[in-house]
Amino acid sequence: MHAKKFIFVTGGVLSSLGKGVASASIGALLEAIGFNITLQKLDPYLNVDPGTMNPYQHGEVFVTEDGAETDLDLGHYERFTNTNLSKINNITAGRIYYSILENERKGAYLGATVQVIPHVTNEIKSMILKASENKDISIVEIGGTVGDIESLPFLETIRQLQLELGRDNTLFIHLTYVPYISAAGELKTKPTQHSVKELRAIGIQPDIIICRSEVMLPEDVKSKIAMFCNVKPTNVISAYDVDYIYKIPLILKAQNLDNIITSALNLDYKTPDLSKWNHIVSNLEHSQEEINIAIVGKYIKLKDAYKSLIEALIHAGIENTLKVNISWMDAENLNEEELEKSDGILIPGGFGERGIEGKIQAINFGRTHKKPTFGICLGMQLMAVEFARNVLGLLEANSTEFEPNTKHPVIDIMQEQKLIEAMGGTMRLGAYSCYLKPNTKAYNIYQASKISERHRHRYEFNNKYLDMFEKQGFIASGINKERNLVEILELQGHPWFLGCQFHPEFKSKPFGPHKLFVSFVRACHENKNI
Ligand code: GLN
Repeated sequence: MHAKKFIFVTGGVLSSLGKGVASASIGALLEAIGFNITLQKLDPYLNVDPGTMNPYQHGEVFVTEDGAETDLDLGHYERFTNTNLSKINNITAGRIYYSILENERKGAYLGATVQVIPHVTNEIKSMILKASENKDISIVEIGGTVGDIESLPFLETIRQLQLELGRDNTLFIHLTYVPYISAAGELKTKPTQHSVKELRAIGIQPDIIICRSEVMLPEDVKSKIAMFCNVKPTNVISAYDVDYIYKIPLILKAQNLDNIITSALNLDYKTPDLSKWNHIVSNLEHSQEEINIAIVGKYIKLKDAYKSLIEALIHAGIENTLKVNISWMDAENLNEEELEKSDGILIPGGFGERGIEGKIQAINFGRTHKKPTFGICLGMQLMAVEFARNVLGLLEANSTEFEPNTKHPVIDIMQEQKLIEAMGGTMRLGAYSCYLKPNTKAYNIYQASKISERHRHRYEFNNKYLDMFEKQGFIASGINKERNLVEILELQGHPWFLGCQFHPEFKSKPFGPHKLFVSFVRACHENKNI
């Protein structure tokens, strides 16, 4: 059985308005009422998934438990709600066409001319219905902006779905932008009017319009939008700029969005319990003490490339009642004075050779100056390279990702990866288990002997060198036993110097901060106060 109710979220005027956060917030409100919900993102581009895209183009690639490489909005969905998403929750036009063309080659269309309507739209429809199975409400966000050529088949599909499923069972929410023009001292509704006109031209009348703007929209502006766009004034919702995205469910609730949605969909309403949201917001606002964490990375000009990481640090800040400031450091132009000023150093994941030596230098600084240092994925791999070069004396140590013929490949590609030629979806992806050794920092942090974390990488620690590492105090405290792979390295005798091969940031939530981040942030705070 597919979901009883569908909410379709489209966007207008501009991209990057936060449609993902708005959808996630709606999910949070509906969950708080007691509904079993899911969220799905439909992306109109032709890549089969975002896994092969440059983070500068697309931001972070979010990895689900089942190893799907997905849009970063799925990160918002999981952080705001209790959903555990998978491959079906992010569908691109590329994936739709891929499966249609495969079917066409198999002769599945029995001589028909294969067309956008009905073949592409039917395929999209089946993906929407499949993702909604066994849920009360499915929130489906369409990527891009109305008016894009690419998004037309998706919009046509949701138009058809309303006709098929009925108006009581489907709801259209359109997110737009209302700019403030300072020269005129006015909020301008025209872009919203045009964007809704565009939507109506293809047969979709939005039921609710969520307006992004710098300031709260006054009633007269809401009424004007309502009249020109043919919606009720109460259904024009103001989503004004806030310092923390975790305030958004509360802002939407204050304008009754939860009640408007349930009554439009003929669902029972009960006041949602939002105490946990109030709690984190008040905690964020009352965290006065600050710590500074240096993130040494390659994609620092686009913060979206490290979305989950930033959120995980914020969550750990909430848990420790600390405000976490991030200093972004370009790995290609490392400034040790800046590093010195920070309370801790974080080396995130990454690909490719650029900035590698700068990251190694930052790790060396953290190790020798006893500053809390956290390496994630590539960060852990470079901790191993730094240690091999500077403690074990293996001066040429490297990862074969950067130096395929290195004399000391302390990080090397796995045998099974050597045979793979295709780039997309072929890394070690998704959840793998990890055993933690008793009496280690990792064990003390997790308070468990077996954990599971998400991965996205091709290279691994080379076990040939493990003995040498451990003899010098850099020990493997986390191991994947099934494949005998090092998952966590930690340095004994250092306040906090730990690297993990997985990406803990993907599992951190505001209400369930990740233990590694909580511990790291605490260590940075202690370091500050020494
Ligand atoms: N480039 C490294 C690898 O493929 C690390 C990847 C990452 O940090 N996600 O193993």
